[in-house]
Amino acid sequence: LTGIAHPVTVGIDCAGQGRTLPVTAGLPDDWFASDGQITKRPVRALTLAALAPRPGELLWDIGAGSGSVGIEWLLAHPANRACAVEADPVRADRARANAVALGVDRLEVVVGIAPDVLPGVPPPDAVFIGGGLSDALLETLWARLPAGTRLVANAVTLESEALLTRWHGQKGGSLLRIELADAAPLGNRHGWRARYPVVQWSAVL
Ligand code: SAH
Repeated sequence: LTGIAHPVTVGIDCAGQGRTLPVTAGLPDDWFASDGQITKRPVRALTLAALAPRPGELLWDIGAGSGSVGIEWLLAHPANRACAVEADPVRADRARANAVALGVDRLEVVVGIAPDVLPGVPPPDAVFIGGGLSDALLETLWARLPAGTRLVANAVTLESEALLTRWHGQKGGSLLRIELADAAPLGNRHGWRARYPVVQWSAVL
């Protein structure tokens, strides 16, 4: 009732409660429910910068996990569209729930293994590979998608890093190694605790 008489006051009351969603990519990890399989905040921020969303564009987020990359792509602009492909049905459900919770229920989620289930939606403007990296997947993308499609792939294991190095040798683009460390307790002082390095390949098809 107070709201009807004093809408502005109610607005201020509401704004003071809960957490405010920042406008840049790289949200704290705890905005997303996950089982630990999530592209962590600083790497996610660099990934979104590399993907470089422009208004109205469509992203395929392959190996979507918690959906965090696709969700941040959607948050970048209200006209953006994203399709998440995730092999694990529990994670796929979680990605859907994360999208709803963050106000971007237009995230489309496809459950299945890439490249077998690549979406039947129109070709994307950009593709992110956060899981399921393989020669077969990259070959399928090159065969199916138009020249000019942007690709960003992240690798943590030596095997996937070797694969990206090989494809970078054939197709060009840029390789970025992301090495980060957090200050963590060390005895009664602090020391740098290294994270696993991530190798990121950015290329244009
Ligand atoms: N970028 C995600 C984390 C990805 S973890 C996030 O920020 O949450 C890698 C994910 O890829 C896992 O959830 C795994 O189930 C999925 N995955 C692995 N191989 C896959 C494949 N071939 N097709 C689809 N998903 C795959």
